[in-house]
Amino acid sequence: MGAVQGCSRAGRDHRIIHAMTSTSQSSHTVWHHATVTRQRREQLNGHRGVILWFTGLSGSGKSTLAHAVEERLHQQGCRTFVCDGDNVRHGLCGDLGFSREDRAENIRRIGQMARLFVESGMIVLTAFISPFAVDRQRVRMMVERSEDFIEVFCDCPLGICEQRDVKGLYQRARKGEVSDFTGISSPYEPPPHADLIVKTGERTVDQCVQEVLALLYARGVVPLTRENV
Ligand code: ADP
Repeated sequence: MGAVQGCSRAGRDHRIIHAMTSTSQSSHTVWHHATVTRQRREQLNGHRGVILWFTGLSGSGKSTLAHAVEERLHQQGCRTFVCDGDNVRHGLCGDLGFSREDRAENIRRIGQMARLFVESGMIVLTAFISPFAVDRQRVRMMVERSEDFIEVFCDCPLGICEQRDVKGLYQRARKGEVSDFTGISSPYEPPPHADLIVKTGERTVDQCVQEVLALLYARGVVPLTRENV
């Protein structure tokens, strides 16, 4: 299966903006071109490389879905990796807090890392609240092609997330023990143009997983075969 490179106007515009925003502070670095290209890696893998970017409130189901979708893709022989919010904050972004600037830098680093996964031909699933639309948009612009970034909005009412309180953080935020907590003391900006909205407060995990997989088949990221129907 070849990686389809669209030549639509939107695709061309995206590539121009991508080139304009890919700046480096180092003037003496030279990009080394690999002979094993992304396209060859994708051919070997039998699927395209993409970022599946899950966004939503804490407790909306981003991690649950990312891991459940990964499980299904892995069973189908896809090369996948999940980047989870807390794990990244232990290492790559361990020096960052939750101020507006630090949140932006957190998402920028994750975006750059995810971009490399896409270059490697993998399906990378990211589970970060990523509350600000502009930060998510910046990641969309980092990737080579607009179709490399698939934004999945885990749409779950705050009340349900708070009721679930998976990590006990809502209770602590209500007591004022956690500052800048998204949904309580810091805003969440829902994506105006998400590629997919999953109603994680109303539907089961399995139903939501099916919706995500259906999108990947429909977009030709993963080929639809009789085995994975
Ligand atoms: P987040 O990563 O967004 O903070 P988690 O995935 O850690 O959220 O927690 C979501 C909780 O909601 C889990 O306990 C999960 O079992 C539950 N849940 C119920 N329905 C769904 C659904 N449709 N999708 C995802 N999670 C769901």
